Amino acid sequence: MTDCLFCKIIAGEIPCRKVYESEELLAFHDINPVAPVHFMIIPKEHIARLDEAHARHELLLGRMLLLAPLLAKEQGLTDGFRTVINTGPGGGQEVYHLHMHVFGGASLHRL
Ligand code: 5GP
Ligand code: ZN
Repeated sequence: MTDCLFCKIIAGEIPCRKVYESEELLAFHDINPVAPVHFMIIPKEHIARLDEAHARHELLLGRMLLLAPLLAKEQGLTDGFRTVINTGPGGGQEVYHLHMHVFGGASLHRL
């Protein structure tokens, strides 16, 4: 996806503050954090939004979820954290490359 912001970050064309990288996933700090610690976990495969993921992405999605607590702890969120996936205009999604927000480190408002 040539004009996708997060695909450009994956390709190294736009810099990021990297938290973690594997063959299939990348995690990096959000440029506009909503909490003292705020990073995102994204698949390297361009999936635009959660409701465009398919059964073949089951393992990938599971790995994203399981990675969140490991990285949260590494980033100092020993007391817990919040995960958010915004989907579509109704979910307030701004960047159309699937990403899971992980943030915490301050008292968060109730959802
Ligand atoms: P969404 O609203 O789509 O769930 O979240 C998109 C997130 O991407 C926002 O929290 C925004 O701050 C973050 N973001 C937008 N552009 C960049 C960028 O160039 N670099 C990084 N690291 N984060 C970005
Ligand atoms: Zn993309």
